Amino acid sequence: MLVLNLACETGHSFEGWFASANDFESQQQRGLLSCPLCNSAKVRKMPSAPRLNLSAAEPAPARRRAPAAPSPEPTAPVLPPGAPVIAAELQKQVIQAVRTLMANTEDVGDRFATEARRIHYGEAQERGIRGRATPDEARELADEGIDIVALPVPDALKDPLQ
Ligand SMILES: [Zn+2]
Repeated sequence: MLVLNLACETGHSFEGWFASANDFESQQQRGLLSCPLCNSAKVRKMPSAPRLNLSAAEPAPARRRAPAAPSPEPTAPVLPPGAPVIAAELQKQVIQAVRTLMANTEDVGDRFATEARRIHYGEAQERGIRGRATPDEARELADEGIDIVALPVPDALKDPLQ
């Protein structure tokens, strides 16, 4: 299993679990990755950060856009001393939430958009489902008023539950 540090275009950093580097590339190319905090699909791989080194005095450096104060150099955000720990805690909660979600939903795989639509229109039994949708499919569902939540569910979490 490969744990990668990822970040979205607005600078949220989070962790992604993948079977391999190819798995990451493939999910990224198919637009399956999105930020758990803002849903942005513009996710990129960050250099390995000292994420596990939480006892270190210095918070992990992170870039953040500062549109109000343009400057030639990227400004380093000022983080409260507890920030890295909070981020780790949040990440843990996200992973736990994903686990709970996966234990309570039916995996419909690539048929996600079809199933979500059938449930919405009363053609299939009302239930929690999870699966994969392309960005286009997700947009179409949203247009039809069908609520879906995009989560970067790591492949590593999927297998043991099946
Ligand atoms: Zn984000």
